[in-house]
Amino acid sequence: MDVAGQAAADALERAGGLLAGAERVVVFSGAGVSTDSGIPDFRSPGGLWSRYDPRELGFRRYVSDPGTRRLAWRLRRELHRLEARPNPAHLACVRLAEAGRLAGVITQNIDGLHTDAGLPAELVCEVHGTGRQFVCLACGERGPMGEAVARVEAGEEDPACLTCGGIIKAATVSFGQNIPADVWARAEALTAACDAFVAVGSSLVVQPAAGLPVRASRQGATLVIVNREPTPLDDLADAVLHGEAGTLLPALVSAALRARPQR
Ligand code: NAD
Repeated sequence: MDVAGQAAADALERAGGLLAGAERVVVFSGAGVSTDSGIPDFRSPGGLWSRYDPRELGFRRYVSDPGTRRLAWRLRRELHRLEARPNPAHLACVRLAEAGRLAGVITQNIDGLHTDAGLPAELVCEVHGTGRQFVCLACGERGPMGEAVARVEAGEEDPACLTCGGIIKAATVSFGQNIPADVWARAEALTAACDAFVAVGSSLVVQPAAGLPVRASRQGATLVIVNREPTPLDDLADAVLHGEAGTLLPALVSAALRARPQR
């Protein structure tokens, strides 16, 4: 192993050691957890999302402008076709849960891959909603996204609610929409009760979600950041691992479980 490789291995063991005593770990996941599953993130160069400015698909424009809705449905259709599957980073969260050490995953992702990986729904808090369902903005009717996408595939560029004719939208929290109060309360409660907080694959700039790691750290939880590139919170973290989530998160979980002190 070269010097850089040894330093990375040492950093991993050290981070695992920091997590060894933690009983209530919160994993906070961002779009970088799902890039290995083929879903592009927002801020890395290239890919599907780099062709769209998410602010242009913000809630107000979605409601007021049919052209924005048509664009959003085209994007939704492309994402639906990806048929993404969980990757080793999602499976590492399941492993932590099976070891009885995971308090929950707070995810900014809307792709449903944490539950596909096998995490029970009660351990997953989707702060930005889900792209697996659509919701009617008028009557609240919900349904599987596949049904809405099938209508788009069949030629409806901006499908309306079949119950009331209202505007339907992915059940996600778009720019300009608030996170539902109950979901946010759950994310805050998980953060307040955790003894370790592992932020993975998030640029940690999207608020208010990015405030959670700061809160966890201030209350004394161990903060570990895993990301391909530096984040604005690296200086606050007890350990920072730079690299691929699909490699580092499984290795971190293994190191934490290995290093667990005997009771
Ligand atoms: P982001 O795009 O702002 O940041 C992703 C971060 O992950 C970047 O810092 C990037 O360098 C890093 N990254 C990318 N691939 C990685 C990998 N394989 N290993 C390690 N790090 C990697 O995403 P965000 O912070 O989650 O915020 C953007 C918003 O857009 C969130 O609401 C997010 O959920 C949403 N979004 C969701 C999806 C999804 O559901 N999969 C995809 C795109 C965007």
